[in-house]
Amino acid sequence: MWDNKRFHTLNYELKKKFGEKIYKVSLDGGFTCPNRDGTLGNKGCIFCSDKGSGEFAGDRRKSIGDQIDDQLKLIEKKFPKGKVIAYFQNFTNTYASIEKLRKIYTEALSHPRVSGLAIATRPDCIPEEVLDLLEELGKENFIWIELGLQTIHEKTSELINRGYSLEQFIISVENLLEKKIPFVTHLILGLPGESKTDILNSVRFVNKSKSWGIKLHLLHIIKETPLHEYYKTNSFPLMEKENYIELVVEILEILNPEMTVHRITGDGTRDTLIGPLWSLDKRSILNGVDKLLKEKNSYQGKFYTEY
Ligand code: SF4
Repeated sequence: MWDNKRFHTLNYELKKKFGEKIYKVSLDGGFTCPNRDGTLGNKGCIFCSDKGSGEFAGDRRKSIGDQIDDQLKLIEKKFPKGKVIAYFQNFTNTYASIEKLRKIYTEALSHPRVSGLAIATRPDCIPEEVLDLLEELGKENFIWIELGLQTIHEKTSELINRGYSLEQFIISVENLLEKKIPFVTHLILGLPGESKTDILNSVRFVNKSKSWGIKLHLLHIIKETPLHEYYKTNSFPLMEKENYIELVVEILEILNPEMTVHRITGDGTRDTLIGPLWSLDKRSILNGVDKLLKEKNSYQGKFYTEY
């Protein structure tokens, strides 16, 4: 087991690596996204908010150092000292000139309480020079990339307007593996038209991809996103809490036990969330997953098969 957990948590992994508890602080590096700035499209992925999928990040008008200090203040009570991972979360955090990227990554890394970086991006936005920069910084620092795959199914990818193909994801992953840059793959559970089998097939693909970690997001609808519009005209069932917990447990059971699980819930804010509203109570989802794993006497990888 992983520190009394029945799945391989990021918390466990970071403690093992750094010998102490490590938090993450979310930053907004002031980026945009090719799926929003007109390069690929203007609307973005249908679930993406105007904050670029980073509802809890720092204030983009502030410097990186000030954002880190602000975020540290928010967790000061439970975490007055100790190291954090600086997470560049909003929009596409490798989509800028190499000079800008070097500047903001090194600014974060030079903060005395930062012990590494997590960088969210798209597979079609990691050109050779960015790979080289990540490789260079990764020699001295712990750095990982986060890729929003969401689904392996082309039909759903079109529906959600992801704007890149599975083939592009595979190529990008090969590049990252060659440079030994760890990456985390995001999947969304409950996308319109996807069956449980479809979702489990996406998970099996991630198993094979040599992904260092996985993030499981519950599909949630945020106000005034294209998904909100779609939902108004094509009402589709949002997941029920019990079904979601059962699905997460089933996913954990087939997941490679080596894979670090970074997240198993959604991330909406109370004032912008249309549904499912039960997703606001993250603690009860996490507890529900722990409880069901225990009841079934199960754990991550119980039914994992390499092929
Ligand atoms: S790639 Fe990310 S930032 Fe860009 S539109 Fe999609 S979710 Fe939003």
